[in-house]
Amino acid sequence: MSAPRLEIDLHKLHHNARTLVELLRPRGIQVVGVTKAVLGSPEIARALLSAGAVGLGDSRIENIETMRRAGVSETLSLIRSPMISQADRVVANADISFNTELDVIAKLSKAARRRGNVHRVVLMVELGDLREGIMPDDLASVVRETLCLPNIKLEGIGVNLACRSGVAPDDANMTVLGFLVESIERTFGLALRVVSGGNSASLTWALGAANTSRVNQLRLGESVLLGCEPLQRQPIPGLHTDAVTLVAEVIESKSKPSRPWGDVGETAFGMATPASDRGRIDQTILALGHQDTDPAGLRPPPEIELLGASGDHLVVASRCQLAVGTELRFQPNYSALVRAMTSPFVENVLKAESVSMQTGREISATQ
Ligand SMILES: *Cc1c(COP(=O)(O)O)cnc(C)c1O
Repeated sequence: MSAPRLEIDLHKLHHNARTLVELLRPRGIQVVGVTKAVLGSPEIARALLSAGAVGLGDSRIENIETMRRAGVSETLSLIRSPMISQADRVVANADISFNTELDVIAKLSKAARRRGNVHRVVLMVELGDLREGIMPDDLASVVRETLCLPNIKLEGIGVNLACRSGVAPDDANMTVLGFLVESIERTFGLALRVVSGGNSASLTWALGAANTSRVNQLRLGESVLLGCEPLQRQPIPGLHTDAVTLVAEVIESKSKPSRPWGDVGETAFGMATPASDRGRIDQTILALGHQDTDPAGLRPPPEIELLGASGDHLVVASRCQLAVGTELRFQPNYSALVRAMTSPFVENVLKAESVSMQTGREISATQ
């Protein structure tokens, strides 16, 4: 197999998704599986659906088109506000889109009318994280106008927290969401089908709250893929944290001084971090760099220490010299995962078997 490569274990992803679906079900919350980090992989999409996700969400129309072309027929939501220039593609491929701009919804309405279908919209409301969302005071007027647009159905209200400013979902902001939902329903005499209470960062709140108010949906990506919640990056009990691993190959292995010599200025990717003098160390270079992933987001195997990275090289210290050709297996965080998925140099390998494929020459971050 070629390196570097991302190995994704479909059984472990299925287990993670199923576990979250079952934890949330008694709380009246359904799961939309979020596929953007895996570029709308149809195999992963199917694993999430078979685990009980009620639909899939993606931020890119290209990924939604990939899933449609592969024959995924379940409900697909575009979870980033559509570009107005892509309204036709959105209406053609997504059942639902998440919106904050009336001009865009009007364009979706026109496009849907031309196609003779009905496009469903979820209106996103701003509750403090300062990314997407209609300010709460403006929500009623946006709802009023949305309801007037032909071929558009108001599916619900949603919120996104934590991604930009790290604002945690809690009883306070979720109660505000519930009030907004009820006030819209009362004012306009309608029932909102969806109250979408956020992403993986909402799990801690949703699983711990005495009352999850009107929230009946979460959109989950990172927690399914990496088995952790994004606010404290803690593992979620019962989930696999090693469903996704990044494998790289050793291209140099030498005993070298631990400190550079000569005049030291900036490095290829910013300032050098001063190295402590530990005498000579076993320094290993892997064929993996900033063009492949986010090196700072890699968890190395035991007894391997990350020392530095450049565009094409990852420099590590090891307990003993590793032969060239040895493969090391790292656990990527979300940043490292999305960079690796979008790098043309990193192969993706989907494993349908959870049996370990470790060879004698491979050292793994996962026990
Ligand atoms: C990325 C994203 C999600 C999924 O977030 P995770 O933290 O990966 O679960 C949900 N909703 C929106 C709007 C997103 O952009």
